[in-house]
Amino acid sequence: MANLIRLEIVTPDRNLLSEDVEYVGAPGVSGEFGVLHNHTPFLTALSIGSLFYKKEGRKYFVFVSGGFTEVTPTKVSILAEVAEKADEISIERARKAKERAEQRLQQEKEQIDYARAKAAMARAMHRLRCRDDAVSAGTCSM
Ligand code: ATP
Repeated sequence: MANLIRLEIVTPDRNLLSEDVEYVGAPGVSGEFGVLHNHTPFLTALSIGSLFYKKEGRKYFVFVSGGFTEVTPTKVSILAEVAEKADEISIERARKAKERAEQRLQQEKEQIDYARAKAAMARAMHRLRCRDDAVSAGTCSM
């Protein structure tokens, strides 16, 4: 099929994904961005959140946390610090991480590493949302 774009996602541990897709939406540090075939080249740092791509009309979700994206007219390369496909996300682990972060954030700000606790909270919430979105899209089982 014409007008596809190559999406590659790697982390320090593994090559997570390499697919020809119709569209990629990702969480950049300056906001969400979307990429179709023939996009102007750019580089951006990644935030914490869900990346999604469309393939054969279906929408797939991947959790990403930190790293960089390079976009060229034919390719999106994601070098993520951490990434999981929606169906790899453990809901139980994310719920526990969220509870731990909530408990930490209830303590006095001076007594904890506030930024670290907020980031842990954001990772847990985005993992849960990523899974929910994938289940709603029908590309991940409950
Ligand atoms: P936790 O406190 O549960 O370790 P975390 O947000 O601190 O969560 P990260 O530092 O983002 O974890 O990730 C460490 C490793 O654990 C990565 O390889 C990541 O893919 C994996 N990981 C973390 N949470 C989950 C989860 N809920 N489901 C699947 N893999 C996870």
